Amino acid sequence: MARVLFLGGLGRSGTTLVERLLGELPGMCALGEVVHLWQRDIRDDERCGCGERFSGCDFWRKIGERAFGGWDKVDVDRVHALRDAVERTRHIPRLATTTAPGSAVTEYASYYARVYAAAAEVSGAPVVIDSSKHSALAHVLRWAPDIDLRVVHMVRDARGVAYSWTKRVARPETDGAGEMTRYSPGRSALLWNAHNAAFGLLARRGVPVRRIRYEEFLASPRAGLIRLADFAGLTLHTADLDFLRAGHADLRAGHSAAGNPMRFTVGRLALRRDDAWVHALPRSQRRLVGAVCSPLLHAYGYPLNPEAR
Ligand SMILES: [Zn+2]
Repeated sequence: MARVLFLGGLGRSGTTLVERLLGELPGMCALGEVVHLWQRDIRDDERCGCGERFSGCDFWRKIGERAFGGWDKVDVDRVHALRDAVERTRHIPRLATTTAPGSAVTEYASYYARVYAAAAEVSGAPVVIDSSKHSALAHVLRWAPDIDLRVVHMVRDARGVAYSWTKRVARPETDGAGEMTRYSPGRSALLWNAHNAAFGLLARRGVPVRRIRYEEFLASPRAGLIRLADFAGLTLHTADLDFLRAGHADLRAGHSAAGNPMRFTVGRLALRRDDAWVHALPRSQRRLVGAVCSPLLHAYGYPLNPEAR
């Protein structure tokens, strides 16, 4: 049974950063956002975190062979049809019931379970990390019979998340052809509420969920990683954290299949809170996001008026 650490939360909450750091730990194998594997990698042959095209990456070729007898055997249209039928935010109330779901949910989950099991075999790591983030996928994976699912719920101040979603970010894996999605602050505030609430619901359904705050994690990445390794069932030795230096980490290349451009970073990665929003997000938008998200901001311990700090 594959042990899966699923990194969840609304995008721009620090999941890629945490995944990159966890991926340096012995016993952990970071896969990137597996939710995008079907289209961006199998179909579009985008770049792996190691820099190779997906089809040219030996690590992923072996996983495809073990999981499906080769990636060309995967019916991507079928995966997409299943995703559209079960993995939507609006389906979460149905997924979160206590009665067994329809066969589409277990069939869709089984594609992921096969990737996880093969990745665990190929890498030899007892824990595989999927940083797909989507709360609906986490609810789907709850119904996969053959995985040991543990969810890390990443939370970041909604106003920092909102500011990040307004910025233009190129997608290097598309060689200049594409940019990352952008949302207005009002839209991202609503998404922030919905996704964070969905992870709370997942915890109430008995799935092990560990919530971490982006800001707190970056205040002490060492302590944060030790806690997360413990949550994943791994014991670390002091030397395992030698890649953490004062203010930065030294990263090796990884095989993240998809996600934030940070997945391509090799060498020095700054470990610094990105608080640009405090000055850069217009006051009216900051107030809007603060008002829309106030109940959960309060619940997570964020000040409603950060200017008063
Ligand atoms: Zn690779």
